[in-house]
Amino acid sequence: MKYKQLVEIYDKLEATTKRLEKVEIISDFLKKIKKDELKEIIYMIEGRIFPEWDKRKIGFSNRLMIKALSVGCGENTKKIEELFRKKGDLGLVAEEIIARRKQSILSSRDLDSSKVLENIRKLAEFEGKGAVDRKIRLITELLSNANGREAKYLVKTVLENLRIGVSSGVIRDSIAKAFELNVNEIENVADLSGDYGEVAELASEKKLEGVALKAGKPVKCMLALLASSIEECFEALGEKVQFENKIDGFRLQCHFDGNKIKLFTRRMENVTEQFPDVAGFLRKHVKGENYILDGEAVGYDKKSGKYLPFQTISQRIKRKYNINEIAEKFPIELDLFDVIYYNKKNLMDASLEERRKLLEKIVKEKKKEVVLTEKIVTDDKKKAQEYFNKILKEGFEGVMAKNLESRYKPGRYVGGWMKLKSILEPLDLVIVKAEYGEGKRAGWLTSYTVACNDNGRLLEIGKVSTGVKEKTEGLTYKEMTKLLKPLIESQKGKEVEVKPKIIIEVGYEEIQNSPTYSSGLALRFPKVLRLREDKPVSEISTLNLAKKIYNSQKGKNSN
Ligand code: AMP
Repeated sequence: MKYKQLVEIYDKLEATTKRLEKVEIISDFLKKIKKDELKEIIYMIEGRIFPEWDKRKIGFSNRLMIKALSVGCGENTKKIEELFRKKGDLGLVAEEIIARRKQSILSSRDLDSSKVLENIRKLAEFEGKGAVDRKIRLITELLSNANGREAKYLVKTVLENLRIGVSSGVIRDSIAKAFELNVNEIENVADLSGDYGEVAELASEKKLEGVALKAGKPVKCMLALLASSIEECFEALGEKVQFENKIDGFRLQCHFDGNKIKLFTRRMENVTEQFPDVAGFLRKHVKGENYILDGEAVGYDKKSGKYLPFQTISQRIKRKYNINEIAEKFPIELDLFDVIYYNKKNLMDASLEERRKLLEKIVKEKKKEVVLTEKIVTDDKKKAQEYFNKILKEGFEGVMAKNLESRYKPGRYVGGWMKLKSILEPLDLVIVKAEYGEGKRAGWLTSYTVACNDNGRLLEIGKVSTGVKEKTEGLTYKEMTKLLKPLIESQKGKEVEVKPKIIIEVGYEEIQNSPTYSSGLALRFPKVLRLREDKPVSEISTLNLAKKIYNSQKGKNSN
């Protein structure tokens, strides 16, 4: 298909905010597409180049794009940067300079959408020496054959920032409408597949059953919503709730097809080769002709037996050589909490209670090899709170709370499971740098680098943008920009340095070690809670306090 046909659809989708109109536009389009092109066209409308479960990144920065535009269009980088500051979107910048250039050139070849996809996919592959030049060449090749509008969407796709308002819900409804199928059916199949491209292909042939649950083929994992209290867990999950300890390892979906064991991460990456030890445990301690089990793999210290935080074993996931050596050095225990397929039966529609019962029957527990997650079932809030406190004292991250009747719903945050973590004391930090946003937010300072106090020195500890909104209620970008603009001391690209005057209270999930910031620490999932206009800079949180909190969360777990 010609890329310009797709660009027409992008234009139409961008021009309307109405969901139903978007569904109409996409479904009409899908009906006309050849079968063998459906998959890639779906990806491109979603603004991606790989299926959702494939987490390869294009990894093309704004800076590199400025360079590519400069090389490809013979425009000087200063000019491009200036346009970028004005428009806040490199797609729009590309559109303008290419439209201007094209007036002076008579003809270029028509771009093909599969050629666009092919070149962008290659970007994710190049690494190491010479990669930057090769990447730039791939983009300039496309740009040289693109007109202004094509360049706009091309650049936005490469920057993984298409923003034409197409959610997965819109894609789901469009596929259902185009091929006259039931929306729920499409959604269920998409949860199993993790790939709307594949679903569209099968839907067009009315072969949705092609995506059946099968041992050996990964499915998306069930996810948990964040709760902020025990009460909230009961409110959301019912009178009787199952609480489990939340283990800080990594998700492992374990498949046995009667012959081979296969192991997949939460992102559906096949990591079987990296974990021969885990495969051995499963063969030894789980009975069944075939199965899919869900669990968490967690590292432990060989000497003390204490569980270790995830970071210590994360290197095992990527390791491709000397596997046995590293397995010996960083041993792992598998903590199972679910079974979703057993002896050729799909158990996703069985209740948690039934699934857990079966799990207890088929797994013979052995510490430091395979165990089941610890659990209590209670309708008593006080007991639940005591359990939560006990779990935190033992050094775990928190608890998982699960509805006993819930079915296994892969892939989305739909309730049924919640996670409740320890609530860490917020920090009062001063803003030392800020960054202008993109697109609609181009005129606002939307992200803030914050610092703590170390005997009078200000040391950076993180960058926060969550918690401030575009709308009027709560703290807004407009308000923050008004406060920060008069304090600007210098500007580099989109980042400004500001006089340290504005103090904000910042919440977060965890403090981590980090070489990125001068404090040596970084806040994980930081969120602006409020302005602290009542505090002078001399009274902001100290590095010592941050270190104390960091130490208090470190692996005290014992098994
Ligand atoms: P989070 O990564 O903070 O969103 O928390 C959810 C993750 O906790 C899951 O994806 C699992 O990897 C992990 N986890 C640890 N213990 C459990 C458990 N008992 N039940 C379910 N998930 C768990």
